[in-house]
Amino acid sequence: MSSNINKIGIVGAGQMGCGIAHVCAIAGHEVQLMDIEQDRLDSGLQSIEKNMARQVKKEKLSQADMDKALKLVSAGTGYDGFKDCDLVIEAATENEELKKEIVRELCKVIPEHTIIASNTSSISITRLAAQSDRPNKFVGMHFMNPVPLMELVELIRGIATDEETYSAISELTTQLGKSPVNAEDFPAFIVNRILLPMINEAVYTLYEGVGSVEAIDSAMKLGTHHPMGPLELADFIGLDTCLAVMNVLHEGLADTKYRPCPLLVKYVEAGWLGRKTGRGFYDYSGDEPVPTR
Ligand code: NAD
Repeated sequence: MSSNINKIGIVGAGQMGCGIAHVCAIAGHEVQLMDIEQDRLDSGLQSIEKNMARQVKKEKLSQADMDKALKLVSAGTGYDGFKDCDLVIEAATENEELKKEIVRELCKVIPEHTIIASNTSSISITRLAAQSDRPNKFVGMHFMNPVPLMELVELIRGIATDEETYSAISELTTQLGKSPVNAEDFPAFIVNRILLPMINEAVYTLYEGVGSVEAIDSAMKLGTHHPMGPLELADFIGLDTCLAVMNVLHEGLADTKYRPCPLLVKYVEAGWLGRKTGRGFYDYSGDEPVPTR
């Protein structure tokens, strides 16, 4: 177990929060998962169990280890469960004001030694840390989706993050079976600075009629050996998250090349957020995803 980190709190039981809970529990950490919506907690716990069962079926995890891991996960809608956490990872919706509010609420309950990490895809760690009573113990810990499968965790220091915090998080990342890569605190860090403009460009390609959904995804899979097409990937990430990241890039770097595609904006306004709502660039209501354009 990583040096001083035993119990880990996670704010947000969406796809990322649950994925993070999954890997932390398998690594032997006690986990406290929190969301404002009881429904999200219920479906989140079910998805953790389902994903672990899939690993058991593939013989990547033993049934005994799965049972042990599931017993380590508790869930609730309040902040009380964070009182004895050594680390709390914020993985709520990608919205700066919401994350700032969470940081302020967290600081009211967590002990002095507790590290706060944010899984934000794009927002300044320094700005979020400034809302806390411990900017030196605040760090960016950006997991990739799906967390149980992806090796990378980007680690981001805010301007005040101290070395003790950074090395504790780096050590934990390795202990979770992941590889840490350092990124500086610039909008969207490394992966999303590169990936999201590509996805946004794919949406422009669709918007301008250069290709259909199927043509764009097939072209990128067959032509560049990407395992998923960019529109399929956008649906997987969540179109609201994609738009939020593009807005942070556009505002944070003040360059028109990051302008979010109006079609992406429209899909989000329609509530077509991708897989998580059953419709995005594909319709997921049947057995197989069907392109919508
Ligand atoms: P999601 O929409 O699946 O889940 C977000 C969850 O946060 C929801 O369950 C929501 O109820 C909850 N939430 C909202 N407000 C809350 C509050 N005040 N307190 C507690 N919970 C609250 O989103 P996601 O894809 O899991 O993304 C979560 C975070 O992870 C975002 O910051 C996102 O940028 C980041 N991220 C996403 C991906 C990805 O591919 N989707 C990858 C890396 C990082």
